[in-house]
Amino acid sequence: MKGVKTEVYEVIIIGGGPGGLTAGLYTSRARLSTLLIESALFGGQMTTTELIENYPGFPQGVTGDELSRLMEDQAKKFGMKTVTQEVVKVSLEGAVKVVQTYESAYRCEALIVSTGTEYRKLGVPGEKEFAGKGVSYCATCDGAFFRDSQIVVVGGGDSALTEALFLTKFARELTIIHRRDALRGTKIYQERALASPKIKFLWNSIVQEINGDSTVRSINVKNVKTGEIKEVETEGVFLFVGLVPRTQFLKGVVQMDEAGYILTNEDCETSTKGILAVGDCRKKLLRQIATAVGDGATAAFAAEKFLELKE
Ligand code: NAP
Repeated sequence: MKGVKTEVYEVIIIGGGPGGLTAGLYTSRARLSTLLIESALFGGQMTTTELIENYPGFPQGVTGDELSRLMEDQAKKFGMKTVTQEVVKVSLEGAVKVVQTYESAYRCEALIVSTGTEYRKLGVPGEKEFAGKGVSYCATCDGAFFRDSQIVVVGGGDSALTEALFLTKFARELTIIHRRDALRGTKIYQERALASPKIKFLWNSIVQEINGDSTVRSINVKNVKTGEIKEVETEGVFLFVGLVPRTQFLKGVVQMDEAGYILTNEDCETSTKGILAVGDCRKKLLRQIATAVGDGATAAFAAEKFLELKE
């Protein structure tokens, strides 16, 4: 790239969630020159989680903000550099990996991809128009705007259940709309949601349209069993209908599955030598903070071995 500054590192990590921060902690402690590129807040999806109850070491639970801050501080302690930029492309120049952001380009020998996932869009009329005006994908960020309101949460997985439980702090009335009559989320969250006096359920139902004026006023909901369509009044629509991996910028560089999750072996190595993938963006059985942290440590060690063998 003409006129663009190019810095060279032994390891570059893209994404500063728990997997990326753990990888950075390990590579910088191993005295490898390391750059972590994060487009937003360190901590990734942890930053939008109110209370984390299933990360070991915190018997009372820990807030997402606190765990993010602790992991960031620890990762930076050993000399890892960080920049806040968005990666748009990765390309190969022989064994060298070139990581391009809007502002700059960086080169490295080993690349660790830890870009996680983002919430899937529902893709119905009104969703885009009312984003930020009643449509939300983040209860922690937007919940307080819905104090004493009547809101709906769409989805039946862990995200929908945990976010709905969090939103009961604010909402007057909350309805979970799920396309089947059985929830997908973890049993303990199911029990809590089903027991909550503030949460109602609309089973076998899908949202077809989001209506409003300057903000959301109602949704059209279809019962998939009976075909009946009805308008439901609501002030907020929280959508948690699954996740999509943030891997677009790597298309053609490493092998992925049809959904865009990066394929790796158990050492987090991808199909391209010197590129590793960790956490939620890779194809794996369980996407949790604990498994992302394990991936981060494994990938850092694999990167270190790759660099040693290369020399
Ligand atoms: P998920 O498990 O994929 O659940 C998505 C939900 O949305 C499912 O109930 C699905 O219905 C529904 N859905 C998908 N597409 C839809 C559509 N077009 N219209 C209506 N409904 C639709 O996603 P997630 O809840 O975001 O969780 C993702 C991962 O993160 C999981 O591995 C989860 O365990 C993890 N997570 C963990 C925690 C925690 O442990 N505290 C919290 C949040 C997330 P069906 O059930 O019919 O497929």
